[in-house]
Amino acid sequence: MPLDFIALALAVIHFGTPLTYYFYLKNKYLSKPWNINADENYKPKVTIIIPTYNEAKLIEKKLNNIYKQKYPRDKLEVIVVDSASTDGTPKLIKKWADKHSELNLKLIVESERKGKAHALNHALEYATGEIVIITDVDSLWPSETITKTLKWFADPTVGAVSCLKKPVGSKVKEVEESYRQYYNILRIAESKAYATPIFHGELAAFRRNLLKKLGGFPIDIGADDSHTATKIALIRYRAIIPENLWVEELVPNKGYSRWRIRRAQHLIQHFAKCLRELRQAPKGFRKILAIETFLHLANPYLLLVSTILLIASTLTTHSLTALGILALGVALLIVKQYRTWIIQQLYLIVASLRNIWTKEIAWSKQVK
Ligand code: GDP
Ligand code: MN
Repeated sequence: MPLDFIALALAVIHFGTPLTYYFYLKNKYLSKPWNINADENYKPKVTIIIPTYNEAKLIEKKLNNIYKQKYPRDKLEVIVVDSASTDGTPKLIKKWADKHSELNLKLIVESERKGKAHALNHALEYATGEIVIITDVDSLWPSETITKTLKWFADPTVGAVSCLKKPVGSKVKEVEESYRQYYNILRIAESKAYATPIFHGELAAFRRNLLKKLGGFPIDIGADDSHTATKIALIRYRAIIPENLWVEELVPNKGYSRWRIRRAQHLIQHFAKCLRELRQAPKGFRKILAIETFLHLANPYLLLVSTILLIASTLTTHSLTALGILALGVALLIVKQYRTWIIQQLYLIVASLRNIWTKEIAWSKQVK
């Protein structure tokens, strides 16, 4: 019986924490005003940094997409930083730039690949914009995106802004839709409360002076965007994901699980690095950071331990309670949200184990 009891308690914490957190944030903050003086007429100089590694297939589409942005061209600077691509990406960029000389584009070619964050820091040395926006090649922006991003920076309390993601590609499953909704509401509600510790490389905008102050992007972990946003929140600036700032993200059609696991690895590295900073977090941000850290680092293991205890209890003491809970846990897999949640927990567990032998700072390219 005590074994069953412990297992049940762990399961209740595992499912209860995120649900409580979600409903608490949603009810308390989602419909609250931002308390930010956004201004669509605020048009500072902006630097867009595009890191590339073997992006020959998509880079022209990405550059065309940036080209179509409705933003004063004299205030727009684009820096593409390539790290030793072997598929001719830099050549395609040069060719594109020659045909579009009215766009201020600079290409930096690194002779050795040392990872995305390293490349971003390299590009930062040349950036002159007040705001720097990082964007992955495999993401596409609606044409108003720069304006919709920069308006938040009109308020000096805002240090960083990121986007919501609309996944596109053959692998996009309906299953994820409901999970995405849960995920997006958390990002927006956390942002309204103070800041969100999870940013997206499809569009991650930062004040350049703050990036300088922080010494650039961290090169020892994978989630450079989320970690930098969190650091900015830790020095008391808002790091937000507003509603309605949507961008498209291409999802790989091969190696989907590998991709999800690598991303989970990066997030875990980010939250593990945050542990040390928790105590000095500003009041409105401390709870958010603490709970997200718990959800990414510890919570998946509660589910794992609970399951193991239930199996052990069923096998050793033939506990009907344990068997009943296990059966319920399996039966619920027909519910989409629940299934997506369980899969995400598995990704996090595999990712945390994988982190022991590889950090995936320079990862292999997934076909998109
Ligand atoms: P994902 O979005 O997490 O799947 O990661 P991606 O593979 O899409 O990489 C994000 C962006 O960083 C893409 O634009 C890549 O081309 C780029 N990238 C990845 N690794 C490197 C690197 O080592 N150097 C540079 N310069 N860019 C990189
Ligand atoms: Mn990507």
